[in-house]
Order: sequence, then structure tokens, then C-alpha cells
Amino acid sequence: MKILVLPGDGIGPEITEATLEVLDRANAKYKLGLEWQTEEMGLGALKKRGSTLPDDVMEAARKAPGIILGPVDHLQYPSREKGGINPSGEFRVKLDLFANIRPAKSRMGVGLTGKPVDLVIFRECTEGFYADRNMFMGRGEFMPTEDMAIAVRKVTARQCNRISRVAFDWARKRRKKVTAVHKANVLHISDGLFLREVRQVAKDYPDVELDEKIVDAMAALLVRDPSKFDCIVTGNMFGDILSDEASEISGSLGLAGSVMAGDDACCAQAQHGSAPDIQGQDKANPTSLMLSAGMLLEWLAERHKRDEFAQAAQAIEAAIDRALQSADTRTGDLGGKLGTKAYAKHVANGI
Ligand code: NAD
Repeated sequence: MKILVLPGDGIGPEITEATLEVLDRANAKYKLGLEWQTEEMGLGALKKRGSTLPDDVMEAARKAPGIILGPVDHLQYPSREKGGINPSGEFRVKLDLFANIRPAKSRMGVGLTGKPVDLVIFRECTEGFYADRNMFMGRGEFMPTEDMAIAVRKVTARQCNRISRVAFDWARKRRKKVTAVHKANVLHISDGLFLREVRQVAKDYPDVELDEKIVDAMAALLVRDPSKFDCIVTGNMFGDILSDEASEISGSLGLAGSVMAGDDACCAQAQHGSAPDIQGQDKANPTSLMLSAGMLLEWLAERHKRDEFAQAAQAIEAAIDRALQSADTRTGDLGGKLGTKAYAKHVANGI
């Protein structure tokens, strides 16, 4: 099975190399038969080929059984007409990767607020306010005059229903609780539709508790006691913001694994950005992408009924958890002594 690897911008190549070192070890030990097809995208591809996501790389993504996507520096990308395509948004829409699944877990004991964190955020990621992907044609924001800008928020019953089902399916295997996060007190119609669909799906899961929270209160409740939450389902922007908050509370954004998944494809992606401020300094923490790659293996295990993939994913997570126990074997962002390369070697040796 050939996995498409796109290292991306900034620290992307460093954390991708570190992740592949760990995956190579798991691949050999669990006889997974994985191969890597590495392609260039991002600012390097823009310079050489005029596009951050050349057509042949998009085609390779369509065919790949799984993708590992490094972070991209899309703040620096030019407009689409000038070759700047955000691969995340493009993959989400074109490959129907509607479910952004973002666990937050306190892996170094309790989280930053002194309470344990072990929750998963399910973020619908193909619509909402995200103008680069929420329209069939054109963009979901425009400027009628030079002093007025309008952004359109798209919410469909189908996508609310699909993301809710993913959250409830996961909740069944976890602590059987789903919290739906919304702003229906203000966005009566659009978040009213979201809640209608979540409640409808909940009827098919009588063994799972459904809880509902308004997003501003949720931001505070996560800090007050994150241990009260198990699976959290929400829309694109609320999920984007709350997942960074939850990961940081769990210990660090650098520990946040993430996949975007659909019915037929899955892409591992670090939750954080391309961190250009520490690029090329051997300072980046690759844990987020390593955990994301582990989540991709879990997804492949379920889809292809290959138990050894799940075993490999568990071994990667366990090796990371062991490394994080001591400051001597953590990266600098977590107060540790190891650089990216040495940390990767340590985790790989622990598999
Ligand atoms: P960022 O997440 O890249 O960095 C925020 C801070 O966290 C920086 O100080 C950085 O050094 C640090 N940091 C991030 N990841 C780290 C890691 N693995 N190890 C150690 N420290 C880490 O956010 P930003 O600086 O606001 O954004 C930079 C670029 O990334 C922008 O172009 C933004 O659009 C893009 N971005 C991409 C993605 C993605 O590709 N999925 C996600 C978010 C932001």
C-alpha cells in the first residue's frame, strides 16, 4: 500500500522526516507493507511549477489509500489565480474529507489547568464560514464596497448529520457522551439546523448521552474542567478554535494529532501550522504529526480489516507516551532537551 507524503512548508519537511522514521520502524516490526510516495507541494512547488498544489499531486491524492500532509504556510500563498491553493481546503472538498477529528489528551500527567484531558473534537470542515471551500463556484466572501465585507456561512443538514454520526460512533467506543457545541441563541436558523440534525442522529444511539453547549460557555467550561467532556461535535470555525484550546490545555498544541476523513479517504495532518519562526532549527516537536499518522493507521486498520495496522498505531502512541514521561526525552517546547531528530530516534527505538 502506497501512502502519499506531502511534507509542506516551514517545519513540515522536518516533522515529516521524523514521522517517517517512526513509521518505518512500525512498518518493519508489524509487517505493514507500506511504501511512501513523496511529492512536493506548497511554496517550493509554487516556485518551481507555478502552483502550491500542482494537478498531478492532486491526482496522486485522489488515488492514494492514505495521505500524510505536513503543515502549509498558506498565509503566504498568493491568490488561487496566481497558483496559491490551500491543500487542506482543497482535499477536504474534492476528496470529501468532511470530518476533522482532533483528540486532545494530557499525555504528561494532568493538563495545564491541573485536570486530566481526554476528549475528541469532531469538526465539520467543508462548509461553515470557510470561504475557500463553502461555495460550488466562487468564494463565500465578497466586498460590495471598499468599506464593507460580507462572509457567508453555509450549513447543510447532510453534513451536520454525517459529522454527528462520526461523533456518536466514536462515543460508543469511548465514554458514551456527545456534546454538541453551537450558537443557536444567535444563529437561530443555521445552528438551529445543526441542532436538529444532531438530535435526530442521537435517536439512533440511545446508549449515548447528548449534551448541548453554547460555544462561548464551552470555551470557559473547557478551561474549568475538561474532564467533563468526551466527544464534542461542532461546525467548522468553532471546531477549529476549540480544538486548539483543548490541545493547549492538554499540554501543548505540539501534541495534537488530527486527521481529516471521509467515507473513502483519510489524511493525517498536524493540527498546528508551519511555524516559520523555528524552521530549520531542529526545534520542532513532531509529536502532532506522528500521532496523526497513528490515527491514519487506525483508520486504515478499520477500512481494510488489518489488525496489524491498529497494533502499529497503538505501539506508536505508547512509545510517544513513554518519551513524554521524562523531560530528558521531550522536545524544547515542552521544557525538554531533545531536538526534532533525536526525539524521533528515541520514539522510533521505543516501538
Ligand atoms: P503555528 O501553529 O505555525 O505557530 C504558532 C506558534 O507555535 C509558533 O510560535 C510556533 O513556533 C509554535 N509551534 C507550532 N508548531 C510547533 C511544533 N510542532 N513544535 C514547536 N513549536 C511549534 O501558527 P502561525 O505561526 O499562526 O501560522 C504559520 C502558518 O501556518 C500560517 O501560514 C498559517 O496560515 C499556517 N497554518 C497551517 C495549518 C495547517 O497546515 N494545517 C494550520 C494552522 C496554521
